[in-house]
Amino acid sequence: MPERPPAAALWFAFQGDRLLVFEGDEPRVPRAFTPEEIGIEALFRQPVGSLNGSPCWAAEVPDRVEAPEGAAFVDLRAIFAAVNEPFFAVAGRAKQVVNWHATHRFCGRCGGETEPAAGELAMRCTRCGMMHYPRVSPAVIVRVRRGGKILLARSPGFPKGLRSVLAGFVEPGESIEETIHREVREEVGIEVESLRYFGSQPWPFPNSLMIGFTADHAGGEIRPEPDEIEDAGWYRAGDLPQLPPRVSIARRMIDDFVDETGG
Ligand SMILES: [Zn+2]
Repeated sequence: MPERPPAAALWFAFQGDRLLVFEGDEPRVPRAFTPEEIGIEALFRQPVGSLNGSPCWAAEVPDRVEAPEGAAFVDLRAIFAAVNEPFFAVAGRAKQVVNWHATHRFCGRCGGETEPAAGELAMRCTRCGMMHYPRVSPAVIVRVRRGGKILLARSPGFPKGLRSVLAGFVEPGESIEETIHREVREEVGIEVESLRYFGSQPWPFPNSLMIGFTADHAGGEIRPEPDEIEDAGWYRAGDLPQLPPRVSIARRMIDDFVDETGG
């Protein structure tokens, strides 16, 4: 694993789930050859791609380190409305790589210490040899239409007033299509048909891959599952509630519905 980028890199330095940024109209990350140059130390560093031609690196910063002058460690969720999608994508990748490294210092099978494996993103157990890879959890996100209306719902954890399309994790042994039918049935008690792939987006809270589909209502009336859904309903394009931020695939799916139905 290279210890230093060939050119000055953009550093996505995470302390836990919080990213080091210089705050302003648009949050910026520091540019340097090493974290030490920025005045921070790193337990782990790893290349995570590029942004506008600049190499990008992730760094894991110990809890005791203070942010340099003019910068702060901030929750990625707190700034995602203010950053563009390429920045969010690199920051999300860095967050997941740092979190994976921080939680795989020891082997889950034998408790031995791990070390970075050469040539791939993996930690190898120094005692039993088991390889530990970053975990990615597939989840479906589905936009259901009924004529000129879209199904939007509220989960208990959402910011006040916000409603979005339905989403849920794929369970072991389940196809994506099965997940969609199960989730929609469980969460709001309706049946759907005409599933069509829309697109996907990595979602780093903590390690999802959102797989987007559109579907049509096929039967049943909305009955929200009380533990998962506070409220759900059919909305016209001209009368939408507060929506998720533009950087999210959920919002892209809703905006696409608005375009389809002409606002
Ligand atoms: Zn082991």
